Amino acid sequence: MLALTRLLSTGTSALTWLEVHRKLAALITAFGPSSKTASAQAAAYPFTRLRSDGLWTLIPDVPMDRVTPLQEQAVVGQLEAGLQVWLLAHPHVALQAVHELAVTNFAPTVIPDVLAAIGLDADTLDLPGTATADLLDGPPNDAATLLADDARRSPTDRKRSTAWRHQVLLAWDRACAFCGYDGQLLNTPVGLEAAHIRWFQFSGPDDVDNGLALCSLHHKLFDRGVLGLTTNLRVQVSAAFTARSPAARGIYALHQQTLVQERPGHTTPSPEHLRWHQRQIFKAPAL
Ligand SMILES: [Zn+2]
Repeated sequence: MLALTRLLSTGTSALTWLEVHRKLAALITAFGPSSKTASAQAAAYPFTRLRSDGLWTLIPDVPMDRVTPLQEQAVVGQLEAGLQVWLLAHPHVALQAVHELAVTNFAPTVIPDVLAAIGLDADTLDLPGTATADLLDGPPNDAATLLADDARRSPTDRKRSTAWRHQVLLAWDRACAFCGYDGQLLNTPVGLEAAHIRWFQFSGPDDVDNGLALCSLHHKLFDRGVLGLTTNLRVQVSAAFTARSPAARGIYALHQQTLVQERPGHTTPSPEHLRWHQRQIFKAPAL
């Protein structure tokens, strides 16, 4: 996504190792799972491994995963030359690729933050769903064909259950599971959302035990890993979260609270999905 955005804004996808070490490492920390891997190594994995499908090249060509050669040889990475030329002639397809990567890897609440972090406005990606047909117009090489295949296999094609949101809000008595917010406008919940514990994009099912009713703020903070939930249903607040105002510092008070709004006898969140959120989303350690 970083390379495609670079291509769209400057006409080249070239990224030096120095930039990648700085920018990509920060993005991985902000939007990836918590990890003890050093930042240079965390950036070196995707920077070198992205070559394996032929879309990405390194100059000079250095071994996989190793940080030292990247530093010593001032390596530059860029999209495969033919693909880059073709994407420059079809910038809407490059945008569509960024869109596909966003919607297949991040929860909807997180996508605007990811795009802002790589320098794109979410509104830019509000495209009609016709780019796949464009991709089939005759991409010039194998790399572009691979990109087209990826677009066709989009997991966003998976059907969403329209009943799921309703069931989740009902299961939590139309109130935020974390703070109890239950605002309504004209007898309809407002500012209240059904949140997937295991993200839909990562095979999270539309099951009631994979859902929480959360107010808009707590949904966002849950999806960004500020808030977590243990398997014994205690709220966790990430130690990485900081705030100055009383309103924001109120988040700290949620730490170790139990969920209060669940209907007696109703399905509790699945420990398996909670463990996925702990591993992949929550920014450990907790307070
Ligand atoms: Zn709330």
